[in-house]
Amino acid sequence: MRIAIVGLSIEIMLASPVATDTTAVQRYDAEDMLAGDVWMVRGMLARLAEEPDIEAVPLFWATALPGGPMTAAAYDEIKSETIRRLIEGGPFDGVLVANHGALEVAGMDEDADTDFVAAIRSAVGPQVPIGVSLDLHGDMTPGLLSAATVFSVLRTAPHRDDRETGWRAADQLVHVIRSGIRPKKAAVRIPILVPGETAVTALRPARELYGSLPEYDARSGILEANILVGFAWNDRPSTAVTAFAVSDGDAAAARNAAVDLAASIWAERSEFRLRMETAETAEGLRRALDAVERPVFVSDSGDNTTAGAAGDLTFVLQAALDDPQASDIVVAGITAPLTVERLIAAGVGAEVEIVLGAEHVSRPRTERRVIARVEACGETLELGGFQPYRSHEGAWACVRIGGVLATFHARAIGITTPHHFTAMGIQPTAHKAYVVKLGYLHPQLEDIAARHILLLSDGVSQLDMRRLDWSALPRPTYPLDTDFDWTPEDGLYGD
Ligand SMILES: [Zn+2]
Repeated sequence: MRIAIVGLSIEIMLASPVATDTTAVQRYDAEDMLAGDVWMVRGMLARLAEEPDIEAVPLFWATALPGGPMTAAAYDEIKSETIRRLIEGGPFDGVLVANHGALEVAGMDEDADTDFVAAIRSAVGPQVPIGVSLDLHGDMTPGLLSAATVFSVLRTAPHRDDRETGWRAADQLVHVIRSGIRPKKAAVRIPILVPGETAVTALRPARELYGSLPEYDARSGILEANILVGFAWNDRPSTAVTAFAVSDGDAAAARNAAVDLAASIWAERSEFRLRMETAETAEGLRRALDAVERPVFVSDSGDNTTAGAAGDLTFVLQAALDDPQASDIVVAGITAPLTVERLIAAGVGAEVEIVLGAEHVSRPRTERRVIARVEACGETLELGGFQPYRSHEGAWACVRIGGVLATFHARAIGITTPHHFTAMGIQPTAHKAYVVKLGYLHPQLEDIAARHILLLSDGVSQLDMRRLDWSALPRPTYPLDTDFDWTPEDGLYGD
């Protein structure tokens, strides 16, 4: 049995002004996929390795840090390379696709994960089973549901189960191939906007909803049931929460599971709220500086690069500088390519006048001149350890401005692990407070944080959905609209 592994795993924020172009995309060939401890792929490989008659054939996987719409050129290149390798390397008994969901391509009128998996379906023909793994912040569409055979979706946020999710996709696919069953699929589009920070799986209601999935999986005839929280910021027809189920051939079983799961999610719609510690920017910084615990991690949720924001905003850094008692605080991950170039040219130890806010692209400039002393800098960041989010880590500089350490970067970066700090010569736990451009903390930072404060800061990833402009999103959608009736049958599609 030969099973191909491919994927294009990118989360796109339509409102982000920085396009995801070919320079942002990272490509993994077979060797990199086998050796690289790659997100989701590592779980797929582990499952396929369990049986000696299965040949896993990793072909190609591409990813990028979340960002603005992918350019058509970058997408076409990855898609045609994927299809070419599938055709040249084939035939295959099955195909595994490690995607994210929420891929958007400039000028494409359709969800691009749908286009990608449909192209794979066309290439391999109607008989070859396809297993797709998705991040729970991806979206479902009728076309995507129909193009693939089985699905698995992450069940933790912050994400700690990519390995298990890849494993389950491969496990279902092997089961389908060996048994010859023809799975049936059903999905329910649930009209709720749920930004990821309100669906943390350690907290209710996501904890209970995701916790119920094993009961659905155990239902007679069900292969797997899953929940896609969706990518709430994108103004798209498919933006929603999705409950869906795949059965071993019993269409009614899939429908019933999807409908029941959707009903339980809908019943909890008003419970998707921020349940972590939150604060407006100045207040949150003050609390972090006053805290007894250390280190306190503070997230600049409005400019969350792991949701696709540009990381260009300096509002939080400027607020920290406004606080006369601010000291021993690190403000990390600001995208400012020209500033980085100047700081590197000046060199370590130099004092340079820089203009904070001069490189804002996603919000108005808020210029402020400061003197920055270059503490460290480099042309690239060498990161150790497992890296769930892979950006092209470009040039960077760490500077001291008064009592604040700040890091600037030539490209958007997701500071999601302690390795990011150590690679810049910053101790990841020794300082009082660390500001990162995230929403919830990613697992490796969550594990070292004594306390986390989420700032309700401005930016394209800000968390009040009612403050965004909506035109393509079907209405009514909760919480933009609150007074309407809905039943799961209204959103049901599939076999
Ligand atoms: Zn996610």
